[in-house]
Amino acid sequence: MATILQSIPKEASVTKIEYEGPRIALYTNAPRYLMENNETISNLVNIIKKRIVVRTDESIRKPEDEARRIIAECVPEEAKLQGTIFDTATGEVSVEAKRPWLLQRNAKEFNHAEVTEKMGWKLRIRKATTIPSRTIQTINATLKQSSAERSKQLKQVGDEIFRPRLSQRTEVSLYTLGGFGQVGRSSLLLSTPESKILIDCGINPGARSPMDAFPRLDSLDITLDDLDAIVIGHAHLDHTGFLPALCKYGYKGPIYCTEPTLPMMNLIQLDAIKVASAQGRTPIYSERDVKQIMRQTITLPYGTVTDISPDIKLVLANAGHILGSALCHFHIGNGDHNFVYSGDIKFGKSILFEAASWNFPRVETLLIESTYGLKEDIQPTRQEVESAFINAVNNTLADGGKVLIPIPAVGRAQEIMMVIDHYMKSGEMIEAPVFTEGMISEASAIHESYPEYLAKELKQKILETDDNPFDSEYFTNIEHGDAREEPMRENSPCIILATSGMLEGGPVLEYFKNIAPDKKNKVLFVSYQVNGTLGRRVLDGSKQATMLGKEGKVEVVTINCGVEKLDGFSGHSDYNQLMSFVQRLRPKLRRVLVNHGERKKSENLAMNIRRMYRVPAHYPQIQEAIKLF
Ligand SMILES: [Zn+2]
Repeated sequence: MATILQSIPKEASVTKIEYEGPRIALYTNAPRYLMENNETISNLVNIIKKRIVVRTDESIRKPEDEARRIIAECVPEEAKLQGTIFDTATGEVSVEAKRPWLLQRNAKEFNHAEVTEKMGWKLRIRKATTIPSRTIQTINATLKQSSAERSKQLKQVGDEIFRPRLSQRTEVSLYTLGGFGQVGRSSLLLSTPESKILIDCGINPGARSPMDAFPRLDSLDITLDDLDAIVIGHAHLDHTGFLPALCKYGYKGPIYCTEPTLPMMNLIQLDAIKVASAQGRTPIYSERDVKQIMRQTITLPYGTVTDISPDIKLVLANAGHILGSALCHFHIGNGDHNFVYSGDIKFGKSILFEAASWNFPRVETLLIESTYGLKEDIQPTRQEVESAFINAVNNTLADGGKVLIPIPAVGRAQEIMMVIDHYMKSGEMIEAPVFTEGMISEASAIHESYPEYLAKELKQKILETDDNPFDSEYFTNIEHGDAREEPMRENSPCIILATSGMLEGGPVLEYFKNIAPDKKNKVLFVSYQVNGTLGRRVLDGSKQATMLGKEGKVEVVTINCGVEKLDGFSGHSDYNQLMSFVQRLRPKLRRVLVNHGERKKSENLAMNIRRMYRVPAHYPQIQEAIKLF
C-alpha cells in the first residue's frame, strides 16, 4: 500500500486500496485520469509484481437508472445497443451491442474516459448474442444478488493469498485422485508446505459405485478447509462433475477458471442433474450447489500471471479443446519449480479454436493427457475430414434425403455448425435448412458471448463484421417438441443436429424414428460411439432398434437409411499431436507424467516419450504420491 501511495500521482485521486481476490483493487474518484494515463498503472504493476485493477469509488457511481440513460445517450445508434448489466461488487457495467466494434476503446464516436467520468461505472463492451444465453443470465443475476457477500469473500481470499510465507523452503508433491490409467474423474492435488491446490474435480459418468465414480479425496488426510484453491481446466463433466458436491459439503474457497468455463460447466452440471433424475438416479448435488459455484468462482483471462496462494502463481493458456479450455501453468516458490497440467488438449487448429499454446517460459514437469496415446490413434487432417463431411452431406441432400447428426451439445455441435455455414456459403455444400435441437443453441449462445476465446478468424468475424456465422440464416433452432413438423416434413431435404451424441436419450431419438426407415436419409456420426449405446449398434449395422415410444409403449424402428461415421472432428490431440506437443516443450522438461487415457494408451505414450525424447516419463495410477521438487 505504501509503495502504491508513494508512486501514484495526486491527480489519480485514489480513495481506497483493497484486495479483490488475487488482485489489488485501486479505487479512484478520477477514473478519467487513470484511463488517459494508463502507463501509471503499468509502472505500478512492474514495481509491486501484483495484478492491479482500477475501480471507481462507490461515491461517484450514478444510480443504475441514470447510468443506463447516460449510456443509451452516448452509444451511437449504429452500434445497436441491446442491454446493460451492472455488477455492484466490482463497479463494472457490461454494455452489450450488436456491433461492438463501434464502441471499442479507440472508437471515434464513443470515448470511454468521457462516458466513465459521466456515469462513474467502469465500462466493459460485450458482443450481444443472437439469442441471449440463459446460463449467463442466471450467473449475472446470482452475482448481483450476492454482491455484498462476494466483496467480503474476495477480501478474505486476498488476505490469505498475500499473507507472509510460513517457510522459505520449497517442496512440491502431487497426489493422484482420479483420471490416471483411465478416462473420467480427473482430479489431482498439488501440495507444498505452504499451500494445497486441487486441480479439476470430475466424475466418471460410466461408473456406478462411488469408489469408481468420484475422485478419491477420501485417500487424502485433509479437510475441504485445508484447500487454498480449486483450479478447473475445462468444463466437461469428467473434469467438473464433482465440484458442486464439494460446495455442497462446505468448500468455501475460491475456484479459478476462464470466463467461459463458468457458464459452460454450470450448463453441463445442471444438465447432469436432469439426466440423473430421468434415469431414476438421485443426483449427488442440487441446483443450489451449482449456484454456489457461481458465487465462489474467480475467472481469469488466458495469459495473466495470478497469485493463488503465498507460493504459487497460476497462468491459464489456451488448450484448443473446448470453449475456455485451459492448460494450467503453476509457478511454484520463487520459480523453483514449474508444473504444467495439460488437461485435455488439441495441438492442432480447428475452425473454433487455435491450437494449444506451448510457449511457456519454463516447464520442468508436464502432466499430459493420453486419450489417443497409441501409435495407431492417428486422425485424418481437418481438411480430409471436412471434405469427407461435405461429400457425406451432399450425397444425401442431392438424393432429396435428410441428414441426421446425433451430436453432443457442447463443442462438437458448434464446430459442425461453423463447418456447414462456411461450406454452404462458399458453394461447396448444397444449401439446405439446418435444424438444431437440445442444449445446442444454449451452448452456441455461450460460444458467441466469448469471441475472444475463439480462433482468430472467427473472433474477427463476430467482433468486427456483420457476418456472424452463429447468426447464419441457415440455422433454425427447434424450441419445443411440437415444432418438429418442418424438419420432419416429407420430401424436404435438410440437416438436423440434435442431442444426445450416442442416441442415448434426448430429442435425437424422435428424429431417428422418423428418419431411419427411409433409405434416402442418412445418420451421420461425428463423435465416438461407446460400446453398449444405441449409436454403436446402429453404427455396427443393426437393422432394427427397439425404443420407448409415446405412453411408454415399445416401438420397433426399422433402419433402412444410410449410416456413416467420420473421425477427425475430435477435440483431443491424436498420437502425433501429443508427441509434437511434448517435443516443443522438451528443451526444459525434466519429467513427463501421463494421465487421462486407458492404461495401455498412457503406458505407450510414456514409453515413446522416454524413447524418442530421452525425458523421464511415467504413468502413475490413482492414489499415488509423486515428489516433484
Ligand atoms: Zn474434455
